[in-house]
Amino acid sequence: MSATPVRTRFAPSPTGYLHIGGARTALFAWAFARRHGGSFVLRIEDTDVARSTPEAVQAILDGMSWLGLDADEGPFYQMQRMDRYKEVIAQMLEAGTAYHCYTSPEELDAIREAQRARGEKPRYDGRWRPEAGKELPAPPAGVQPVVRFRGPTEGVVAWDDLVKGRIEIANAELDDFIIARADGTPTYNFCVVVDDWDMGITHVIRGDDHVNNTPRQINVLEALGADVPLYAHLSMILGDDGTKLSKRHGAVSVMQYDDEGYLPEAVINYLARLGWSHGDDEVFSRQQFVEWFDLDHITPSAAQFNTEKLNWLNAHYIRQAENGRLAAEVANRLARRGVNPETGPSLEAVVALYKDRVSNLNELADSAELFVADLHPAPEVLGQHLTDTAKAALASLRTRLAAVEWNKAALSQAIKETMAAHGLKMPQVAIPLRVVVLGVPQTPSIDAVLEVLGREHVLARLDRQL
Ligand code: GLU
Repeated sequence: MSATPVRTRFAPSPTGYLHIGGARTALFAWAFARRHGGSFVLRIEDTDVARSTPEAVQAILDGMSWLGLDADEGPFYQMQRMDRYKEVIAQMLEAGTAYHCYTSPEELDAIREAQRARGEKPRYDGRWRPEAGKELPAPPAGVQPVVRFRGPTEGVVAWDDLVKGRIEIANAELDDFIIARADGTPTYNFCVVVDDWDMGITHVIRGDDHVNNTPRQINVLEALGADVPLYAHLSMILGDDGTKLSKRHGAVSVMQYDDEGYLPEAVINYLARLGWSHGDDEVFSRQQFVEWFDLDHITPSAAQFNTEKLNWLNAHYIRQAENGRLAAEVANRLARRGVNPETGPSLEAVVALYKDRVSNLNELADSAELFVADLHPAPEVLGQHLTDTAKAALASLRTRLAAVEWNKAALSQAIKETMAAHGLKMPQVAIPLRVVVLGVPQTPSIDAVLEVLGREHVLARLDRQL
């Protein structure tokens, strides 16, 4: 590594929530900075005032904080840096690396149409571009000019993309693009350049939808005499079905993963493997990821989303999570459903029973709800399982349970005695018992369920059906 400290940035446009693709970009930029003891800068690119909203800014900040992607600097807001962009534009006009252009939109249309008719690529023809010995027209009265970058016309602009390899574009392909509109506002590609320069960004890690902007940005950086950062363009993420990831594929907003019961560490682990690999390792901590992360093992081909794998990772992290943390998550989810967990048994004990059987926190909450809500098993489920034989057995079990010591061994013994007394097999007692105490025929081991639910609730639930 060079001696220059690594500085990366994440530069979202706040026109919507933080989506999974943006989160992956943020994660890679964050991890690269962490890996090299550098800095991670958050920059909000809010110059598209028509589409940027404060809610979207908040959604992005929330998503990053949920994922634990902490920025060392920022958030910086481009709208607050307008004076700086204008200052640089003035300097460029002065230095001759930018110029005023008075071509009207109608004229531009006519130019393009003529180019198309000749089979050429439509582009600005440089009519206001100053050249040695060239006579420029007199500026038309009352027209506010745009400012164009006076780009190189010969040679190539090239960079060694850290993901895609060498990319070269002939400067003849690039026209002099607008860096400030007629009303003086700077354009997107220009603001990015000034920011990356001012913020000392060493590695631009971003989506490959920006590859086409890079040659223009490099040319402006060079015109400014700025150091050109290294670029790593990440390939896009496809949905499960191989098409571009979109709302059709379900959750695309990071916070929706929270709503849907994913743990942030599962999402982080999942995103880390979307286009990056460390051998065959699939399950690793954030810390481990930071230690391993490099740009050499990012695949240049598109990564495909795999919901099944995410669910598998989520199940893994739920199993690993502390019961107290899971109980708090479940309590929040129950509260949102209007269920008050205070009246039920310990949620920590309930989640301990279920944490290895669920793949998300909502499923965990569904099971916990059976323990804490005022349970009314569905009549058809009761009708199916609560036969007269079963009722008689549960009645005698109820008597035993009223007196038994409340622990798993004693509870299991009471069930076995009931089976023997009624000449029944385990499922003939356990299934109706499950239906009566939890409303469902399948639960974790019944003695454990009874133990957690507690004598008071078990007897009350039995009494309601007998
Ligand atoms: N604001 C751009 C976006 O949200 C990112 C620009 C960049 O990373 O250079 O797509």
